[in-house]
Amino acid sequence: MAGIYIHIPYCKSKCIYCDFYSTPVVETMEQYVHSLLCEAKLRREEIVNSSPSKIEGAGGSMPSQSNDRSIIPQFTTLYLGGGTPSVMPVELLSALINGLSEIFDLSLVEEFTIEVNPDDVTREYVEELRQLGVNRVSMGVQSFNDGDLLTINRRHSAQQAIDAVDAIKEAGISNVSIDLIYGLPGQTLDSWQHNVEQAIGLNVQHISAYNLGYEPRTRLWVMREQGKVQEVSDDDCIAMHDILVIMLKEAGFEHYEISNFARPGYRSRHNSSYWNFTPYLGLGAAAHSFDGNVRRYNPSSIKEYLEKLSNGLPAFIEENLEWWERYDEEVMVRLRMSDGLDTKLIAQRYGDKVSNHLIKQSQQFIGQGLLRVKGNSLILTPSGVMMSDNIIRNLMWG
Ligand code: SF4
Repeated sequence: MAGIYIHIPYCKSKCIYCDFYSTPVVETMEQYVHSLLCEAKLRREEIVNSSPSKIEGAGGSMPSQSNDRSIIPQFTTLYLGGGTPSVMPVELLSALINGLSEIFDLSLVEEFTIEVNPDDVTREYVEELRQLGVNRVSMGVQSFNDGDLLTINRRHSAQQAIDAVDAIKEAGISNVSIDLIYGLPGQTLDSWQHNVEQAIGLNVQHISAYNLGYEPRTRLWVMREQGKVQEVSDDDCIAMHDILVIMLKEAGFEHYEISNFARPGYRSRHNSSYWNFTPYLGLGAAAHSFDGNVRRYNPSSIKEYLEKLSNGLPAFIEENLEWWERYDEEVMVRLRMSDGLDTKLIAQRYGDKVSNHLIKQSQQFIGQGLLRVKGNSLILTPSGVMMSDNIIRNLMWG
């Protein structure tokens, strides 16, 4: 079954590397929650009215598809992401969740995640989240070095992040994920190793670690252009990735997706459904939805989003994916998973011509030790992970 993603596009300040849609304007928050619920109602009608055949073959099913108008769509995961959902007052979060549970059947939700920033976390706050049904917290830590945090304009200190993890656990939410970034300006192999040690010491269940990207239109990009920051070399980034993989493996984490590590039984169910190509519903400004064939994109503008919904209109634009676009996406997301890309599944979905293309294109990378074969699946080797962009490009159709 599918999940709901809700985008909360507010942040108190902007981290220099961030190109996600977010805004510091909070006056619209109440109206935003109202619009999210309006959008949820519109999308419910659309799901109930859609034909089941529309979502077949997508590796999952949009919830409770039926011609029976009395059936309420069901979901199994709920994810509040951002932006910074933890800047939203609990009363508004509560109105949002209670409203959603009147529109959708949330009784089967087994994973309810909220993204938080360490500086918003108190034990009382987390207790209130727990009462709303939250059972997983994902916290942006990024680094345990205060100098790094200052450089990238995070609002918290390393100690605040450590205290926040304790507060989350004390308040009774035991499933905690933290995000880290490697390759930060000035970061050394030793300081990265210290970061990973600190993360392991916190005894969290899940760690996501990303290589710092220099995205156009970010302050970080401009600073690099002006010579104010220097990129960490590719060799050092590869070494940092190796340190991460080795240390987390020794600490008992499964490396189940390129950037994600989980203790056994704690893989992110919500994110895994994206990577498994399962349909999902996205609500809010800049949110995306996918029903197996069609992607729907909401505008990356709160103003535009609020305007559309206040007129009772859905905010999204639709993109009907061609078969080869779906294939390319499957290659991209499935190769990121440790379970790899199942060539038999590709043959079933796209035919022998496509799976033969995949097998033929993969030979060079198998020969170079960048891909390995397990059963019917192609899996990136550790060296392949660092070359994944190039490998994926070569396996695509388009
Ligand atoms: S808190 Fe997250 S979403 Fe907000 S600016 Fe920083 S990285 Fe971007």
